[in-house]
Amino acid sequence: MPQTYINYYKKSLEIIASLPNDKKPSLLLHACCGPCSCFPLAFLCPHFDVTVFFNNSNIYPQSEYLRRLDELRKFLGFFKRDYGYDVKLIVTPYDNEGYNKDLQPFASLPEGQERCFICYRKRMGEAYDFAEKNGYGFFSTVMTISRQKDSQVLNRIGAELEATHQRTRYFYSDYKKNKGIDVGREMRIHYGLYNQLYCGCKYTYAKGLLKAKEKGLDR
Ligand code: SF4
Repeated sequence: MPQTYINYYKKSLEIIASLPNDKKPSLLLHACCGPCSCFPLAFLCPHFDVTVFFNNSNIYPQSEYLRRLDELRKFLGFFKRDYGYDVKLIVTPYDNEGYNKDLQPFASLPEGQERCFICYRKRMGEAYDFAEKNGYGFFSTVMTISRQKDSQVLNRIGAELEATHQRTRYFYSDYKKNKGIDVGREMRIHYGLYNQLYCGCKYTYAKGLLKAKEKGLDR
């Protein structure tokens, strides 16, 4: 049966409108890279005490993983300087081989299908567990900024995770909406952040190499 479309951008505004005025709740934000974090951080930080959680063992090879992590660190420095928010960063250990065990059976599928849904759930689930264990009021993921990722699927996963956790609430989002994607792009260009050419895993790495060749870039 087809799923009903839900306006998750509207839901994000409703959650913000319901927050108490006296104290910002804590929010753990799963982030996959610097560019995708730009707009979500600008959107969230006026309302939440945000900590970024980088658990992205999907990224292959390790040099790419480190490059994306470095860009995120660099952006958080600029964000503190220019926006005044001191966002903490938590990084989990990198284990691409272990991570791929669940993805390998779906290796041949194109991006945006079952392999990706498993990939979203693995990272969001791990981050949500951390949020719950460490007393965060909310959890969100920057991934809804991406046009390549289905926000309906991401938010359904978020709702399922909320239902299986007791304390941490899921912050529904569609960060790309209401020009979020454009503002994010402008921020990425303004700060000169590295813009990756493929989603991240070894199954999409060849696509990245091809794009790099077309653009005449060294990898
Ligand atoms: S394409 Fe992206 S979301 Fe899909 S499995 Fe690879 S890294 Fe995960």
